[in-house]
Amino acid sequence: MTPYDAPLTQATPALAGARGALADGLGRNHSYLRLSVTDRCDLRCVYCMAEHMTFLPKAEVLTLEELDRVATVFVGLGVRKLRLTGGEPLVRKGILGLIERLSRHLATGALDEITLTTNGTRLSTHAVDLARLGVKRINVSMDTLKPDLFAALTRGGDLAQVQAGIDAALAAGLKVKINAVALARDNAAEIPALIEWAHVRGMDLTLIETMPMGEIDEDRTDQFLSLADVRRDLESFWTLTDLPLTTGGPARYAKVAETGGRVGFITPMSHNFCESCNRVRLTCTGTLHTCLGQEDATDLRAVLRAGGSDGDLVRAIAGGIATKPKGHDFHIERGRAPSVTRHMSTTGG
Ligand code: SAM
Ligand code: SF4
Repeated sequence: MTPYDAPLTQATPALAGARGALADGLGRNHSYLRLSVTDRCDLRCVYCMAEHMTFLPKAEVLTLEELDRVATVFVGLGVRKLRLTGGEPLVRKGILGLIERLSRHLATGALDEITLTTNGTRLSTHAVDLARLGVKRINVSMDTLKPDLFAALTRGGDLAQVQAGIDAALAAGLKVKINAVALARDNAAEIPALIEWAHVRGMDLTLIETMPMGEIDEDRTDQFLSLADVRRDLESFWTLTDLPLTTGGPARYAKVAETGGRVGFITPMSHNFCESCNRVRLTCTGTLHTCLGQEDATDLRAVLRAGGSDGDLVRAIAGGIATKPKGHDFHIERGRAPSVTRHMSTTGG
C-alpha cells in the first residue's frame, strides 16, 4: 500500500474541541487556506520568477497524502474555503486525485468551496474534470491580450492556449475570474481593453499591484504601477461604483456601469488591507505563513514527518496563527532587496 492509499480521515470529530485555534491575537479569524501544491510551473512570468529557477527537490515537497492530511486538519479547525495554487497547481502530478479526495469535505458540508488559481495552460484538458469534482470557480491569470507580449511576459507562454483554456472552463460551467498584474511598462495602456474582454465574456477581472517577493531578473521599480492611478484613469471614461466588501479578502470591487461587469483592485502597496485578513498560506513544503508579506513561518512538515498526531498539528497551527503579524511591510525601492526572500510561486499567490 502506498501512503496515498491510506484511509481517508474526516475533518471534524477529533478536532471539534480545538475550534478557536484559527483566531489570532488581534481577533482575526481564519477561514480561508491557500495551499500551494507545487513550486513548479510551465511558465516563467517575469515578475514572479527568475528565468533560471532552481526548483525544490521532490523530497522537500509535501506528498499528496500529506497535503490532504494537513488540509483536512485545517478544515477540522474551521477553514471553509480552500484555494489550491502554486507554482502552477495543474502541473502537479495527481492533482485531480487530490481534489477528488478533498471534495469529501464538500460532501459533508465541512467545506464550502475548493477553488484554484491557475495560469490556464492546462484548462482545456482539465476543466471538465474540475467541474465534475465540485470546483465551481477558478481564477485564471492573464496579463495581456497581445500574443507577443504574453510570450515575453511569461517567457514562452502561448496566449491562444490560455484563452482556449478559459473558453473550456466557461463551457464546463466554471465561473472564471481573470487576474492581471498591472505593469507600468507592459500592459498599462491595455488595462481597459483587458477589462472589456473579460466583461464581455461575463467574467470579473482583478488587477494586482506587483509585490516585492523573491529575487527576479529585473528591477521592480520599473514595473510598479499604482492601482490608485489606474482607477483614476478608468474613471476618466467609465463610471465606477464601489461594491460592499463581501470576501474578507484584499480585493476591493467596483461595478463598471458601461460594461456591466466588476473590476477588483488588489493594492498591497498603495493601500494596506491587513485588518480584515482572513487567510493563511501553506507552502508546498508545508510551511505555514500567516502573512504574505512577512517572513513568519511555522514548519508543519516537520510535525508531519516526525509522526505527529493531528493534535500536534493543531498545536503547531494554533501557535503560528496566534503570532500572526499585524500587517505586511512591502516596499518597492530601486536597488532595495525584496521585502520577503521567498518567491510568490513558492508561497502560493
Ligand atoms: N500559476 C498560477 C497563476 O499564475 O495563476 C498560480 C500561482 S501565481 C504565483 C498566483 C498569482 O500571483 C498570479 O495571478 C500571478 O500573476 C500573481 N503574482 C506572481 N508574482 C507576483 C508578484 N510579485 N506580485 C504580484 N502578483 C504576483
Ligand atoms: Fe507560473 Fe503563475 Fe508564477 Fe506565472 S505567476 S510564473 S504562471 S506561478
